[in-house]
Amino acid sequence: MNVRAHMSMLFHLDKCIGCHTCSIACKNLWTDRKGAEYMWWNNVETRPGAGYPTQWEDQEHFHGGWVYDGNGDGKPGKLRLRLQSRAGGLAKLFFNPDLPSLEDYYEPFTFRYGDLFNAPEGDDQPTAIPISQVTGRPLDIESGPNWDDDLGGSPLYAASDPNRRNLSPEVQEALSEVERVVFNYLPRICNHCLNPACVAACPSGAIYKRVEDGIVLVNENKCRGWRMCVAACPYKKVFYNWSTGKSEKCILCFPRMETGQAPACAHSCVGRIRYMGVLLYDADRIEAAAAVPDDRLLDAYMDTILDPFDPEVIAGARANGIDDGWIAAAQKSPVYKFAKVWKIALPLHLEYRTMAMMFYIPPLSPVMSTLENALTRLDINTEVEDFELLERLDAARLPVQYLANLFSVGDEQVIRRILRKMYAVRLYMRRKTVEGVMDDATLALLAGAGCTPEEAEAIYQLTTLPHVNDRFVLPPYHREMAVETWKDPLAHKGEVGIGYIQPPKRGD
Ligand code: SF4
Ligand code: SF4
Repeated sequence: MNVRAHMSMLFHLDKCIGCHTCSIACKNLWTDRKGAEYMWWNNVETRPGAGYPTQWEDQEHFHGGWVYDGNGDGKPGKLRLRLQSRAGGLAKLFFNPDLPSLEDYYEPFTFRYGDLFNAPEGDDQPTAIPISQVTGRPLDIESGPNWDDDLGGSPLYAASDPNRRNLSPEVQEALSEVERVVFNYLPRICNHCLNPACVAACPSGAIYKRVEDGIVLVNENKCRGWRMCVAACPYKKVFYNWSTGKSEKCILCFPRMETGQAPACAHSCVGRIRYMGVLLYDADRIEAAAAVPDDRLLDAYMDTILDPFDPEVIAGARANGIDDGWIAAAQKSPVYKFAKVWKIALPLHLEYRTMAMMFYIPPLSPVMSTLENALTRLDINTEVEDFELLERLDAARLPVQYLANLFSVGDEQVIRRILRKMYAVRLYMRRKTVEGVMDDATLALLAGAGCTPEEAEAIYQLTTLPHVNDRFVLPPYHREMAVETWKDPLAHKGEVGIGYIQPPKRGD
């Protein structure tokens, strides 16, 4: 066991209101400068929808992430970058057809605000026309980073969502009906993956994963601008700065965290949907966990995350130089509670096999609107006992299979289990706090969802009433600890292996 610590973020999607404050906070702090105009290290997508860059999830087109060739024949398989081997990458050094184009992102623009003040007197109100930040000329805007905002369920945008691929024809058809339009929001940052394709694809060894907290960074002094990382990242969360000729990406606001502050996106989040916490994981299990058939992927991934209360894990952490303050933070981590203890949070698109370390609680709200309508028509006491009501998840406006394609490698049962639990907690708390009564049927519903009353209270507390210190459990950073772990990095296993590249030397 090789115990390491990781800073992770969790997004409670039921709470996201799609205000984009997070994106603006990040933009103002990190990418409000030349060459970075089109970059959104944090963006918020409306789903179903095409996302940013457009259809980034279409790996047949963009060739991001890893491919496992052991699906199906029962034999152990191997992992390889979908993009190419490192040798194959040399052939694409000067022209890489897998890179997203400016059209896939959008042509960045600003407005000629001066017109508002300086336009000559006339009959019309002056307007600020849009100006391209590439050419400086007036622009007829045709796309943007949140172009399909709030219209994700419309036939136009939902139709191009790659996650619709294996929905039944009936569901596809239903999603195309305007009266069934439904959407939710999906905020995204770099996932600071355990098996990052961006790191493996970089010919210059410029991208590395910090051993002390797992943050994936670009060493700009080493970056030669080959952009293999941009193509290899299946989440399209590395960006090329045309002005500096270097790649850039989300840095999880490490300068803020090192001074005890949450990342700007999390700190500014209006819906308070974001949680930050430490996870302890076993670095020795990563390679094996990423190379299992799809149906075992989620379990293998979750097994890499360790119990911070286990004495053996604590001893392993200390042996690797992990500070007791970090171990204590891992024990209080809200990410650990949601993901491992309560089992209601999942990573995004685990099938890319980069082992994403950001977590999402799937949205329940569109389901609830259907269920609650049903509740008013049914005799709850007789119907809920056998979960007949919850079988109506199949009739939910946001298809369970769609959520499974996003969060559980297509496994609907995982999503069903999570939604049932969240629904049971909501019903239990409503009975208790609003109606002031508790009946056997509700308790049976809770038990059937695998939840105790104590757990329901804890989930409710952390979901709806958390103090800021409950949402952001930040560990004490010690620079001397970083130096210590740098002396003993994990082995980098070469071409397409899973590994950690040496961080830059001081002064590099
Ligand atoms: S999401 Fe993963 S693969 Fe993409 S840039 Fe971040 S660490 Fe690299
Ligand atoms: S600030 Fe929070 S609530 Fe608003 S869009 Fe971002 S994640 Fe959602």
